[in-house]
Amino acid sequence: MYLYNSATHKKEELKTHTPGRVEMYTCGPTVYHFAHIGNLRSYIMEDVLEKYLRFAGYDVNRVMNITDVGHLSSDADTGEDKMLKGAKRENKTVMDIAKFYTDAFFDDCRKLNIKTPDVVQPATGCIGEYIKIISKLVDTGYAYLAGGNVYFDSSKLERYYIFNDHDEDDLAVGVREGVEEDSNKRNKNDFVLWFTKSKFEDQALKWDSPWGVGYPGWHIECSGISMKYNGEYLDLHCGGVDNAFPHHTNEIAQSESYLGHPWCPHWFHVHHLNDPAGKMSKSKGEFLTVSLLEEKGYDPLAYRWFCLQSHYRKTLVFSWENLDNAAAAYTKLLNRIAALKPEGDVDAAVFGEYREKFLQQVGNDLNTSMAVTAVFDALKAKTNDATKLAVIGEFDKVLSMSLLEKAAALREKAAQAVQSGGGDYVITGEGDPEIDAKVLARYEAKKAKNFAEADRIRDELKAQGIEVTDVKGGASWKRV
Ligand code: AMP
Ligand code: ZN
Repeated sequence: MYLYNSATHKKEELKTHTPGRVEMYTCGPTVYHFAHIGNLRSYIMEDVLEKYLRFAGYDVNRVMNITDVGHLSSDADTGEDKMLKGAKRENKTVMDIAKFYTDAFFDDCRKLNIKTPDVVQPATGCIGEYIKIISKLVDTGYAYLAGGNVYFDSSKLERYYIFNDHDEDDLAVGVREGVEEDSNKRNKNDFVLWFTKSKFEDQALKWDSPWGVGYPGWHIECSGISMKYNGEYLDLHCGGVDNAFPHHTNEIAQSESYLGHPWCPHWFHVHHLNDPAGKMSKSKGEFLTVSLLEEKGYDPLAYRWFCLQSHYRKTLVFSWENLDNAAAAYTKLLNRIAALKPEGDVDAAVFGEYREKFLQQVGNDLNTSMAVTAVFDALKAKTNDATKLAVIGEFDKVLSMSLLEKAAALREKAAQAVQSGGGDYVITGEGDPEIDAKVLARYEAKKAKNFAEADRIRDELKAQGIEVTDVKGGASWKRV
């Protein structure tokens, strides 16, 4: 697979330490609030990446942390403690908040068909790993004690900025808020590995350490968790683009200083979903969550479809109108798939040809919009319906849009509607179950002498470009 690598600023063939196996790490959510759909864009694209790798035959070990300690609101070491902020807001303990929002996150993932990674590790469960790494960094002179805290000394590195082609906005994260400067730091880019002294006297979770009772900084958790479950050689590290600096930069600094060899060659960053007013926020404006989409009547998978239509390295702008378009396109697609008759034998040659093309196209820097196009191409293929269904089912192993399941449900629903209400009423058309159901509803309205309703349905069909003609014993329809 060819993937853009933020560390080299080039599209490169993914090479792994152990051939055929991908050790993959994903920065998980900070569980102080619900995830917004921007966060979930990152997780959707990472899910597609993981599924593509498996589809391409790799054995994947995917690890993700859950940040339940140490993440301050500026991403650097200033601002409020996010977990504490959540606990105060809801008058609950930090652990209650963590549990509630971790569950909420996985509920959202389930609704979006995002697979749970092989390993999910809350940061509070690996304190020993961080202490081991920090101790060695202190012993080897990469870290120093100041004012009670342990800091990483960024001046010890020849190359600290790895992802320096990001725009100013990305690089400014963490410094831009310009809150209090930490006078203990020797260099501007030094960061906290372990806090014993901080302004958060009410920090609920504290652990004993060689440097006193305290808690880990945010960045160390990903290095510790990844090394524990992925080993010393990570192949692919993922996150949203805002994670590149300072979070990933600091992960690389501490991991390579600790290991004494390169750590992770390939970095995958998903660009942001913005709302039309700019950056997506959990505090300002409309807080866009999966639950809100559901409340407004959207299938969460329509949002997944919306995300798949654009490339992960482009900023995506969310609007209700854009989501409506994606939802309508998704429904239309499901109806077209439902109209396929699951009969006959699969043509293995055609199936193989489509699979190979998909593998090549999507393997070119995770081109998900090509994957979407591939589904439409399969519908138009010169082959039988059974083959089309098999091809679409194969693609859906990567897309995870529940295409076959939802289409089968539609087919079933339409068959039931026609059976229960139709009796001998025969509908002939282009095999679209949704339209069949409407034509039947019109017939039932007429039978019940509800002519206004029958006319309304006829007008609705007309607006969809469907012409219905009454014929002996039923109706026939066509697209005009
Ligand atoms: P957090 O819960 O803040 O730690 O963020 C979880 C993930 O969402 C991280 O990988 C972030 O980089 C990513 N992220 C944050 N905001 C956005 C956004 N607007 N669009 C896409 N991904 C985002
Ligand atoms: Zn991380």
